[in-house]
Amino acid sequence: MNYIVLDLEWNQCPYGKDRENEKLPFEIIEFGAVKMNEKKEIVDTFHQLVKPVVYRRIHFRTREVIAVSLEELEKEGILFPEAADAFFKWCGSDYRFCTWGTLDLNELQRNLDFYYMGGLIEGPVIYEDVQKLFAIAYETRKDRRSLEYAADFLHIEDNGEFHQALDDAVYTARILSMIPDEVIREDFSIDTYRTPKTRAEQILIRYRTYEKFISREFTTKEAAMEDREITAIRCFVCHKNAKRKVKWFSDNGRNHFAVGFCPDHGYIKSKVRLRKATSGKIFVIKTTKMISEGDAEKIRNKQDAIRERRHKKGK
Ligand SMILES: [Zn+2]
Repeated sequence: MNYIVLDLEWNQCPYGKDRENEKLPFEIIEFGAVKMNEKKEIVDTFHQLVKPVVYRRIHFRTREVIAVSLEELEKEGILFPEAADAFFKWCGSDYRFCTWGTLDLNELQRNLDFYYMGGLIEGPVIYEDVQKLFAIAYETRKDRRSLEYAADFLHIEDNGEFHQALDDAVYTARILSMIPDEVIREDFSIDTYRTPKTRAEQILIRYRTYEKFISREFTTKEAAMEDREITAIRCFVCHKNAKRKVKWFSDNGRNHFAVGFCPDHGYIKSKVRLRKATSGKIFVIKTTKMISEGDAEKIRNKQDAIRERRHKKGK
């Protein structure tokens, strides 16, 4: 399997958000990609400018961060469908995408859909978010740094060029090559631009210390929170149904929490995040992990505090 390290540049509506094409808020104008083999050696590169069709002027903010001009795009760029075709041919058949952050694959799929080419990517896409991997390997799990910062941190020789798609892909590839294999293996990401459509397509992934479940779509939040598979709390270790210790409660309407107890393995925390799917419907990302008795107590206290606040408001 190869790694395809991808960096895209895109433009947005130069006349403001109210005049944008809702189906294509961000129009891809440049592909940069690096192909790495399993040993994480660079074996090939891909670079292609795209002729803009939807937005024929460059947004001032885009102009600040890209290295190409509109004239170059119009002269050297090809139409998106041709560029995407060439790119996917170049990718081959056995690869995993790697990007800096979470946006590129999302925008790639949206641009593909705009041209009815969504069939080129099967979703939900498993990929490596190198920005996240860098944080896990070198800082703390929650940090998110710029590409420049990470390149500098790892003493990667820089040629002063950032935000040129191919240069950024090369930096990202070099950073990826310095991340331990077990981090890459363990901490992959899942892009949910395309969500599971049926019960059978739902995804359950077991990471080292937690489990992640990605549900199919529901018409309402309420319907999602009534689904048995979503509300069940299963032990992370033995996967048996746990005894419910703290009932599902929500802090702000989007995040829901519950605590269960397995007599053999202890306390379990489940967290449900309600997310809006591309279709406008609701889907759920649920994580489950083991916690200490103290942490279970903290969650109970949080639930009590929220109840009390609601109670006071009600009076
Ligand atoms: Zn158990």
